[in-house]
Amino acid sequence: MKESAMPISSVRTFSQTLIEHQLPALRAQSIHTLQVNVGKRCNQTCHHCHVDAGPSRTEMMTRETVETILTVLRRHPQMITVDITGGAPELNPCFEYLVSECRALGRTVIDRCNLTVFFVKGKSHLPEFLARHQVEVIASLPCYLEENVDQQRGTGVFGRSITALQQLNALGYGQESRGLVLNLVYNPLGPRLPPDQRELEATYKEELFSRFGIRFNRLYTVTNMPINRFLKDLYAQGRHDEYMNLLVEHFNPHSVENVMCRTLLSVGWDGRLYDCDFNQMLNLPLGRNLPQTISDFAADALAQRAITIGQHCYGCTAGAGSSCGGALT
Ligand code: SF4
Ligand code: SF4
Repeated sequence: MKESAMPISSVRTFSQTLIEHQLPALRAQSIHTLQVNVGKRCNQTCHHCHVDAGPSRTEMMTRETVETILTVLRRHPQMITVDITGGAPELNPCFEYLVSECRALGRTVIDRCNLTVFFVKGKSHLPEFLARHQVEVIASLPCYLEENVDQQRGTGVFGRSITALQQLNALGYGQESRGLVLNLVYNPLGPRLPPDQRELEATYKEELFSRFGIRFNRLYTVTNMPINRFLKDLYAQGRHDEYMNLLVEHFNPHSVENVMCRTLLSVGWDGRLYDCDFNQMLNLPLGRNLPQTISDFAADALAQRAITIGQHCYGCTAGAGSSCGGALT
């Protein structure tokens, strides 16, 4: 096991905690999902963003890298899900090509969508495109109240998000029988752990349907990662140590078996490989003896790799645990 030297907190290290709980070093068990980060450009600039994404970012995956990813997927059918993220992934000019080719290969495709991208000039066709290709949409909506969403994600974001969700519903998203999956993501507005996922999902369903007639499939509760913009906010508020202690005190040994890096591999916009999107944002590379780019992909070595960990891993293992697919326990 390798551990990042990043001085994110003075609390005991994540590897010490694993040892104290008599847990083995983190190691991958398969690569079920290839998570592809196609770039850092976004039409929003949210306070909690772990990517530091925004309209001025220029990092974008090229068509050449997309082709390399498709070649790897053709050779490795065990990677059954392609999880496309960003920034706003739809702003990459290759997004629609990547989606349609992955679907043609029979892969489940996830679009991590901020919803407001539907209102960017030239992107109004996206809801129909996503429905036509049966793309699973995972959309951020940190609250069902306008004030809270706009506070975290920017003025007017809530209203546009609601309209976007209504557009997706009109196409059949959120209805079990149509096979068009619409999942929402909740993350706390400040340095707190998320509440119980099942209870919050029930509240979201009731509130969104009664207020706006919106239906969706699942709500994923996600813990804010103490990295990048959220980390800067913690320091600015003088609440960094408080938040790290909260994560450490709520370490849940049962979540460790299910952390997403055990079944996922992350590809950066430049084709570099990482254990997860968080390691990618921290520039924490894979172990030294492993392939470092998608061009060097080697399934056997990567599927059983030792995972590079750091203090931010407490964000995945606090409380009910947290991943791109919500709570872990
Ligand atoms: S959190 Fe998502 S929508 Fe917000 S700035 Fe980051 S990538 Fe964009
Ligand atoms: S941050 Fe989470 S997903 Fe990433 S390496 Fe740590 S435990 Fe695994």
